[in-house]
Amino acid sequence: MTNSNAATTAEAEPHTTTNGSAKLAPTMRALVKSQDQPGLWFEGDRTLPTGSTGIVGVPGPTEALIRVTMAGVCGTDRHIYEWDQWAKGRIPVGIITGHEFVGEIVSVGEGVTRVQVGQRVTAEGHITAGTDFSSRTGNAHIARDMRILGVDRNGCFADYVMLPQDNVWPVHKGVPDKIAAVMDPLGNAVHTVMSAGVSAQSVLITGAGIIGLMAVTVAKAAGASKIFVTDIDERRLELAKKIGADFVFDPRKGDGWIDTIDQNTPGDGCDVLLEMSGAVSAINSGFRALRHGGTAALLGIPGKPFDFDLAKHIIFKGATVLGVNGRRMWATWYQMEELILSGKLQLDDIITHTLPFEQFDDAFKLMQSGDGIKVVLDLNA
Ligand SMILES: [Zn+2]
Repeated sequence: MTNSNAATTAEAEPHTTTNGSAKLAPTMRALVKSQDQPGLWFEGDRTLPTGSTGIVGVPGPTEALIRVTMAGVCGTDRHIYEWDQWAKGRIPVGIITGHEFVGEIVSVGEGVTRVQVGQRVTAEGHITAGTDFSSRTGNAHIARDMRILGVDRNGCFADYVMLPQDNVWPVHKGVPDKIAAVMDPLGNAVHTVMSAGVSAQSVLITGAGIIGLMAVTVAKAAGASKIFVTDIDERRLELAKKIGADFVFDPRKGDGWIDTIDQNTPGDGCDVLLEMSGAVSAINSGFRALRHGGTAALLGIPGKPFDFDLAKHIIFKGATVLGVNGRRMWATWYQMEELILSGKLQLDDIITHTLPFEQFDDAFKLMQSGDGIKVVLDLNA
């Protein structure tokens, strides 16, 4: 090797700083909601995150800068892409989107003690100052000051993302990247299933979207005695059956399915309802199928307020109703890790596509057509 070659090699290698982090290029690739109209825009020269220091690429005292390797595309991202009423009212134009990812820590602030450079991590996207009542009493996931990654602040559809160390979750070596990238929605499913308690219980899951399907395999792994699933997409119903559902129903074919549930339980309906669709008809029929004294955990978000027979569905039935939001920090994450490592979750069929980062448009088209369920973007491809 000649001297000039040696010099070139040395320059090509990343320099390291005192905290062991690599010196980074000042710009990165990012998917940005650049305009007040449908779509997302790919930027090749977006400035690196600044964090609390305000200095490009430099983490604040308790922050970590993470290089993103894979990112999951969520239904929330689809709302932002399609620019519906909710997205228009919530998303600041100019924001980097995305909140599901796996990556590697490249630098940390001087006060960071819980995570280190080089660690493979994902993160809890609900960020709070940790000072309100909920945060201080074990309910940080519903903190009043909670801000969401890729919704209220710059997200992870980018080469780098900055997060407080308190939100970073080191990924167990037994968890593959593709699964680690979707721990956020999987955590929604785990939180819903665990809130309701499904062991030796008959469970109805209304809505076999991404999280509904995840809930099927989680409920199965958690010991549900019988699993019933409703959806209006035959392909998803078939997949639900493949990964653990005992009975699947298309409610457009009539109400006979509620009788089928009665016939396959002690006669009074299912013990547990996990509502994952947000569809008014599914909420109403789900409560009809729930037995007296049953438990309903609601995760699906209705598009707008609607009429609901509270007396019939909840009061006279003596039903327990749970609202589910986010993931418990960090109870849900520990439960999720145990479930993944147990090998009992069937997630491979739910993560239908992995695409290079630049092909994000195809990811949304796959979701819109229903040909894809969970699509993951590979930033290294
Ligand atoms: Zn999500």
